[in-house]
Amino acid sequence: MGTAGIEAGASEAEPSERTAATGLRPASADTVLPARAQAVVVGGGIIGTSVAYHLALLGMNDVLLLERDRLTSGTTWHAAGLIATFGSTSQTSTELRMYTRDLYARLEAETGLATGLRQCGLIELAIEPGRLEEYRRVAAFNRHCGVGVHEISAREVAELWPLARTDDVLAAFYIPEDGRVNPVDATMSLARGARMRGVRIVEGVPVTGFLRERGACGVREVTGVRTPLGDVEAQYVVNCAGMWARQLGELAGVSIPLQAAEHYYLLTEPIEGVDGSWPVLEDPASYGYYREEGGGLMLGMFEPVCAPWRVDGIPEDFSFGELTPDWDRMGPYLETTMARVPITEQIGIRKFFCGPESFTPDLLPIVGEAPELKNFFVAAGLNSIGILTGGGIGRTVAQWIIQGTPDIDVTGINIDRLHPYQSNPRYRATRTVESLGLVYATHYPNRPTKTARGARLSPIHARLEEQRACFRDVSGWEGADWYAPDGVAAEPGELSWGRPHWFDYWAAEHHATRNGVILMDMSFMAKFLVQGRDAARGLERISANQVAAEPGRITYTQWLNERGTLEADLTVTMLDDDQFFVVASDTAHRHAETWMRRHLADSHAFVTDVTSGYCQINIQGPGSRALLTAVTHADMSNEAFPFRAARYIDIGYARVLCVRITYLGELGYELHIPAEQAVGVYDRLVVAGRPLGLRHAGLKALASLRMEKAYRDYGHDIDNTDSVLEAGLGFAVALDKPGGFIGQEAVLAKKANGPLTRRLVQLLVTDPEPLLFHAEVVSRNGRPAGYLRSASYGFTLGGAVGLAMIDADEPITQKYLDSGSWTVRVGDEIYPAVASLRPLYDPSSKRVQM
Ligand SMILES: Cc1cc2nc3c(=O)[nH]c(=O)nc-3n(C[C@H](O)[C@H](O)[C@H](O)COP(=O)(O)OP(=O)(O)OC[C@H]3O[C@@H](n4cnc5c(N)ncnc54)[C@H](O)[C@@H]3O)c2cc1C
Repeated sequence: MGTAGIEAGASEAEPSERTAATGLRPASADTVLPARAQAVVVGGGIIGTSVAYHLALLGMNDVLLLERDRLTSGTTWHAAGLIATFGSTSQTSTELRMYTRDLYARLEAETGLATGLRQCGLIELAIEPGRLEEYRRVAAFNRHCGVGVHEISAREVAELWPLARTDDVLAAFYIPEDGRVNPVDATMSLARGARMRGVRIVEGVPVTGFLRERGACGVREVTGVRTPLGDVEAQYVVNCAGMWARQLGELAGVSIPLQAAEHYYLLTEPIEGVDGSWPVLEDPASYGYYREEGGGLMLGMFEPVCAPWRVDGIPEDFSFGELTPDWDRMGPYLETTMARVPITEQIGIRKFFCGPESFTPDLLPIVGEAPELKNFFVAAGLNSIGILTGGGIGRTVAQWIIQGTPDIDVTGINIDRLHPYQSNPRYRATRTVESLGLVYATHYPNRPTKTARGARLSPIHARLEEQRACFRDVSGWEGADWYAPDGVAAEPGELSWGRPHWFDYWAAEHHATRNGVILMDMSFMAKFLVQGRDAARGLERISANQVAAEPGRITYTQWLNERGTLEADLTVTMLDDDQFFVVASDTAHRHAETWMRRHLADSHAFVTDVTSGYCQINIQGPGSRALLTAVTHADMSNEAFPFRAARYIDIGYARVLCVRITYLGELGYELHIPAEQAVGVYDRLVVAGRPLGLRHAGLKALASLRMEKAYRDYGHDIDNTDSVLEAGLGFAVALDKPGGFIGQEAVLAKKANGPLTRRLVQLLVTDPEPLLFHAEVVSRNGRPAGYLRSASYGFTLGGAVGLAMIDADEPITQKYLDSGSWTVRVGDEIYPAVASLRPLYDPSSKRVQM
């Protein structure tokens, strides 16, 4: 292994020999740091070197990478190096994996340093029917993304992997082009590639703090780093400090809620017959993966209940370190793992290795620009797949910095989806116990998160509990998912791919919304008050729709970037000429807030997050007017209170902001109630609702109702890669409004480009039996045309329904949709479907306006 171009002591010793915490090796005495760099990358693991490489690749020629000790000395040096493109139903994750594998394959030709990539193949075993169903669904989606995956039999597994027990294997999934890489070599090759493109890499220099200033627009931004060798000014800083990233982020006032956990593999003595060309084998049911190592085997593990490490903080001098294995805790899991390859029960163990790896609250990486600090980027929290996604992560961060927005959907990995409270020690300690095991759990739909529950409660939570709500984690809130009738446990029950035990209760809530009246708690929605002389002007500038035309009116709008793609999808209610109420979904909370704050910073417009101050209760359904009329003196008639009106009304002792709007496709109202008065208002609604047959409805009903009406959900069916026109939201763009808006030119250019060949389309499966969840491949005339970004069951439409982004060689019009034969693939089954550009339920929105 070579380390050309790396200053202050190259890591020549084989890292695998340096397994004790050795203490840090400082930079040599003559090391001098530059006073300035355009970007400083902190951390020289696989992620930091990849970010530096890609910044240079994309044209940034003044990049400095600072590594506290030696490259790879954190987690990277001991990774198992599995390369798997199979396994995810996220397009983002699959693209990150594919790009990374291809990069490792071509890097040697560019840098002269091999990455150690061996495309020996990967086999995933399916032992139980639930896993088989999952893998068939994943395989169909992954094939659509370009992954070469083949379903093979137990006999074929035995031929490829003779030492594995295969008598209980239902089927397996074989990806010949996957395999393994040497993580240290891949890092060194990236470092060499970065160096060749002008990046300066300095080892032995820790970053100990950050320089911050208020920029020209009044937004706080990072301006450099502190080190023992002096300050380095920088326009951008990228925190790639692995498991140290959280405590390092604290020095910049940035919350990065990741936590290290114990992570194990075992190395056996050499075993006769084991061949280095064998594929990597994974059997999640045995908590294990298996590959050749030194003529023997490596058995890696993802145990279902795991152990966080050093919640109080990672030691600064932990380097090339390993942890003492907890044999008592791991023993039972290890037995299960070894049983898949019985010879390992008889052969000697060379090493039982435990090293720390970072995990995040939702098992997704933490990437992107910190909401707290402009130009401060983070790429950390890799949840044990940092090697196999590292290339793609580096490319994405570099694009984000250089182009302003990456070319993949980052809504799920963006740092701003997370909240500061998730950095609390207790939260991290509790949640991390569950995280690592979820890697190998069967990914059934509706799997509830079990740990760190009850972190955020609606003001009416106790009342909903009395109503027998089954709660689920909604960005940390307890969200009522569905309601159990008397005598039925409000529990999710057994997980499966079929109809859950609560299917009929869900259906009843759905029908009650269409035919009667329901109450839905939506307190988790993000709410902001925007006030000031310039509030109207500022909000008009960032909104594609006209939001400040008339006080007492709510407007549905998107916020676009200069490229005309979506940054947010929300409502703006004009309360007065200098007061606005902005409501976004829970997942977009901090993204919308940051976007707003940064664009309004230099004006007389002030954003206050009032989420905690208001309880949001939605009263929806044709009976909703009658219910509100029964509790208020306000005139709720259609004439006095038309669709999109927003008024303060009295309910009991409270003054409630009542907005006539719906996300479910019926006549309906959203009530924003001061938190301390919420219980009183709720009680009145429930009492008045009794004679009207008021039902409580949960988030499952929300999903099925909105999907029938094809209402979009940002981060689920629309994202940062979609133009507002492709997303079918052109109706909410006021192209001719005075003063224009951010993204207007891009929208005009897209329009001028002619009819769209990429559009979001609603699909309804005509057979009422199958269920759709996400990522099912959609075909036109037998040719794949897209996949379902999200889906639910349309109880009124009579079948599963979803939204897919469809690509075509010709303009996508309803005629084009009608002239094709549409199908949706669910696992190995193919079902006919109807495709529509207009909502299949109430296309002319008569019910909303009544
Ligand atoms: C047992 C085990 C097996 C694994 N197997 C696989 C696998 O098969 N496939 C896979 O994809 N992933 C695997 N992983 C996960 C993978 O190793 C990690 O996701 C990846 O290495 C994380 O890389 P990183 O660059 O984020 O972190 P690190 O490698 O920890 O790099 C962070 C760097 O930042 C430096 N640093 C910290 N603080 C500072 C500071 N203040 N100033 C300057 N530098 C600083 C550290 O010294 C370190 O070098 C495994 C992990 C473990 C523990």
